[in-house]
Amino acid sequence: MTPDLLLRTPRQWVHYTAERLRAAYEADEAEGIAWWVVEECLGCTRTELLLSRDERDLPSIDSILERLLRHEPVQYIFGRTTWRGLSLRVTPATLIPRPETAELVDQALTLYPADRPIRVLDACTGSGCIAIALKKERPCWQVDALDVSAEALTIAQANAEANQIAVRFFRHDLLGDAPLPDYDLIVSNPPYVRLSEQAEMTPQVLDYEPHAALFVPDNDALIFYRALAGLHAATLCVEINEAFGREVCEVFRQAGYADIQLIHDSYGKARIVTGRMAL
Ligand code: GLN
Repeated sequence: MTPDLLLRTPRQWVHYTAERLRAAYEADEAEGIAWWVVEECLGCTRTELLLSRDERDLPSIDSILERLLRHEPVQYIFGRTTWRGLSLRVTPATLIPRPETAELVDQALTLYPADRPIRVLDACTGSGCIAIALKKERPCWQVDALDVSAEALTIAQANAEANQIAVRFFRHDLLGDAPLPDYDLIVSNPPYVRLSEQAEMTPQVLDYEPHAALFVPDNDALIFYRALAGLHAATLCVEINEAFGREVCEVFRQAGYADIQLIHDSYGKARIVTGRMAL
């Protein structure tokens, strides 16, 4: 006998999916993911789903549930995410953009007048999210973006094109390649998680997101901040590991930056450092 032919209303599918996900996720997270899955599988918005009472089949749900139960991020399963109003393609070659990185963009936007045509660099761009968000908000800024990963740059370029945003992407290794030209503003969310922090990380991050974009050695946790401070920028604005607020400020101070600010994110964690090159 066919097991109950798998016809359910969208809401029943959300309920069913959330229940199955409870084996691996807390209730709130399970429900959030369940909505996402049913929206994607039925190709409907949440409002359409809420209004619909049609009973339907969801043919691929079992294979998706299996992947979710192995903690694969739902964003990688469907290959995209929405972040700061942008629809972005993401693959395991790029981090999934985080809410705290949206706060980094908000902070960077305050550093120069909206109508000043400055030159901006996003270092370690990954999916391109920061560069694309800045250029979208400030069309007169010239935005360049670099990454060491050619695979990430392909995704970033595709994201810029899909969102019709002009960013110049180039491959560059911050830790090894030749010096870069001067920029007015350099923004970056570089790798900053110490390898010893792996024990506290979820399998979604640890087993699926690119380690090269996340981790730094415990004995050299500030390596990317020293490289960034060594570039030629009038202003720096970077995301940091909450454990290293004072240390990143000190790296910038030693490189000649002044007016250094340590800013907390909306979870109350030290998350952003900004500085201006002293005249
Ligand atoms: N904030 C990210 C995390 O917690 C890390 C991002 C990064 O290393 N730049 O996983």
